[in-house]
Formats: sequence, C-alpha cells, structure tokens
Amino acid sequence: MTWKPTKKLFALAMAVGLLAAACGDDDDTTTDTTEATEQTTEDTAAEFEAGTTMADIAEAGTITVGVKYDQPGFGLQNPTTSEVEGFDVEIARLIVEAIGEDVEIEFVESVSRNREPFLQDGTVDLVIATYTINDARKQVIDFAGPYFVAEQDIMVRADDETIESVDDLNGKNVCTVTGSTSATNVAASAPQASVTLLDTYSQCAEAMTDGRVEAVTTDNTILAGLVQASDGEYKLIEAPFSEEPYGIGLPKGDDDFRNFINDRLEEIFESGEWAEAFESTLGAIGLDTPEPPEVDRYTETPPAPTTTAAP
Ligand code: GLU
Repeated sequence: MTWKPTKKLFALAMAVGLLAAACGDDDDTTTDTTEATEQTTEDTAAEFEAGTTMADIAEAGTITVGVKYDQPGFGLQNPTTSEVEGFDVEIARLIVEAIGEDVEIEFVESVSRNREPFLQDGTVDLVIATYTINDARKQVIDFAGPYFVAEQDIMVRADDETIESVDDLNGKNVCTVTGSTSATNVAASAPQASVTLLDTYSQCAEAMTDGRVEAVTTDNTILAGLVQASDGEYKLIEAPFSEEPYGIGLPKGDDDFRNFINDRLEEIFESGEWAEAFESTLGAIGLDTPEPPEVDRYTETPPAPTTTAAP
C-alpha cells in the first residue's frame, strides 16, 4: 500500500516542528518541516485548474526564468559548470518545484534593462533578478512578493576616504546600471554626480578598477557580493539611501499565477526553506539571515508615477 499523507498530517508535522523549535531542537525542526513541505508541493501540483499558467507549465514540463548571471550571491554563472547559482536561483527552484517536481527550469540571462521587455514579449515566464517592486514597473508587469528587502548603498575603493554618504557623490564619477532603480535614486539623491550607465554591475566594478569611476552604487546586497569578490580592493560605505523590496516579475494580469507564487512564498517563509536558501547563498558572502518580509497582495495597478525618469 502506498502511504498517502494528508494536509492534516502536514498540519501535525508543522505543529511537531514548531514544538521542537520551541524546545530548541533545531535539527529535528529542519527535518520535519522539509518533509512536510515536500508533501504540500505534491498536493498542490495535482490541483491546478485547466487553463491556468501553472497547469500549462506542469503540462509542458518546462519554464523559463530570467536571472542575473554576474551577481555573486544572487545569480552568478559558475565558470566551470556553466550553471547559474545564488539566492534568486534557489527561489526559482522553490517556486517551480511546487508546480511539479519534474518541471525543468531554463534560466535566461536578464540584465536590468531587459526585465520588463522579456516578460512582455514572452522571452521568459518569470523574472527573479534582484528586481525592485515599484509603481512604474507595475504599469507593464506584475510582481509577486516581496521575498527580500535590500537598500541602495555605495561601493568605493578600500583606500577612499572622500565618500561617506550619498551627498558626497555630488561632483564625482559614479557608475550604475541602465534600467535600474539605482540609476533613478542616485539621480534624485545626488543630482550633481556624473553618472556612467553600463549594462551590468560587474562592468561597473571593472570601470572602478580601471579608474574610470570613483564609486559604484546599487543595492547593498549586490555590492556585498562584489566587495567579497574584489579581495580587499573595494569596500561598502554602509550609508543606505533607499529601500528595495525584491519581487518576482510575471506578465501583467495573471492573478492566478501571482496568487500561487505568493502562497508558495508564504509556505517557504514558514517552512524554513527560504532561510536555508538564504544561508547557503547570501550567508556564504557574510550576510545574516533576516526575517522574511510580508507578501503584498495588491489588487489594483497603482497610478503611474509622474517622474519620467523612473524605470
Ligand atoms: N533592485 C534594483 C532594481 O531592480 C537594482 C538592482 C538591479 O538593477 O538588478 O532596479
């Protein structure tokens, strides 16, 4: 006879897990909640209504996900294996395994400026790429999440003593990326900065090594990865000047898919799988695991912002 666990058993397993956690028995908690979540995944996969994106993907057996390829900790292509690795990649896996254990993910490199176009023209089904949720982007795509909240910060050469806050960027040569909120934010917060816009943050890091720019600005978590990879050449200022809630981008108007992803995010926040994914990726570059953020299930597209510069 095949053992068929039920949702009741899942609830029981969760309760046991929580009890074990309360008793300080961390090892048991991890095992219990992981097994329980695997079961929920199987239950969910069988329940998709025909015509939903989840049913279509389960039937096709593949999904395309846009991620970064040059951001240590989030999405980085391993030069030896060519596999892409990082927190965003793990989040993709955790979402997709709830559609079907056998669904294959085809990762597609997305730089900041092509994330909305890739979702609009169908190049990718999802974008999970350090992608800030904002009203300008919600005009053309939708977001599940957030699943993480970063802050914009500044990276300089380790021996630089002249830049200690965003104000100090005025009059300096600064690099950031086309189509990013980092570009919009630095233009607003340091209007006298001379901003070089490139395609990727790794190109900005090279521009600093070459002496073409004096600072790179974007999310602190992206910069933390570049600082670690620089082997003492760069440092992070740690003077954040914006909040960047990361969402999962999906085509506009697919509310069933958005609800499904939001449900799954809440499930992995609860089960500990989100924290495990964080520890094994961003934890390895020295970041402490935060509390997961609260999912925002917005029901209407907000009005478009009036500034023309916002990406
Ligand atoms: N989170 C910001 C954004 O979505 C900056 C990082 C990036 O460009 O990926 O624009």
